[in-house]
Amino acid sequence: MRKYYLFGNWKMNKTVKEAVEYANCVKGKVNSSVEFGVFPPFTAISAFSEAVSGTNIFVGAQNMYYEEKGAFTGEISPIMLKELGVKYVLLGHSERRHIFNEDNTLINEKVLSALSHGLVPILCVGETLEERQTGKTEEVIKKQLEIGLKGVQTSNFIIAYEPVWAIGTGVNATVEQASAVHKFIRAELNELLHDEIGETISILYGGSIKESNFEELANNNEIDGGLVGGASLDCVSFLTLYNILKKVKLS
Ligand code: PEP
Repeated sequence: MRKYYLFGNWKMNKTVKEAVEYANCVKGKVNSSVEFGVFPPFTAISAFSEAVSGTNIFVGAQNMYYEEKGAFTGEISPIMLKELGVKYVLLGHSERRHIFNEDNTLINEKVLSALSHGLVPILCVGETLEERQTGKTEEVIKKQLEIGLKGVQTSNFIIAYEPVWAIGTGVNATVEQASAVHKFIRAELNELLHDEIGETISILYGGSIKESNFEELANNNEIDGGLVGGASLDCVSFLTLYNILKKVKLS
């Protein structure tokens, strides 16, 4: 059986004080049945991680560089993240690809580095609106997976399907749209890795998840959880999404 996840990407939001308040809000309200992870900005990781230490709440980073150390001004290394108790790292998020021009080759270096340092990469893939409208969705995602996962021989990673047109727009993919792409990703994973490994990898949906649409999305067997941006910023809303996922997947 694949594992289910609810991940909250805060993006460039929350101070250290706000992160600790959030930690105190969610502490004691999640268990291990569905993995609950929060991805604060780098500056708040340490305080958040300390505040949730010993609980079922896991900490992720929103990005990292692939080198361990050196002259890479402004970058953060996998070793630095491990030291702070980070378990997961988002790689290839659409904002990294489209605002900061990260390409599939760079993302692949990061995926390999994360794995070799014992971090679990969440490889984000997804098409732009133009790519969808011109029938290029599968071609784009195939390339993102093929290059992004080059040299990967383990199942210790997660895929997040995040259509670019759905991120932060309020417009989510329909269950049919998400499920079709998840099926395509699953087939690609089975081809890239051995079938029995491909089947064990969780594929999350991300893009304007909110309380009103999450139950329908989570109910689909192809969707193993959610990567949530905006709706993860409020701890009460995020806990509501967690309870929806638990209800749908575990009942
Ligand atoms: C994200 O940042 O990964 C995301 C899906 O954002 P939002 O939920 O705000 O669309």
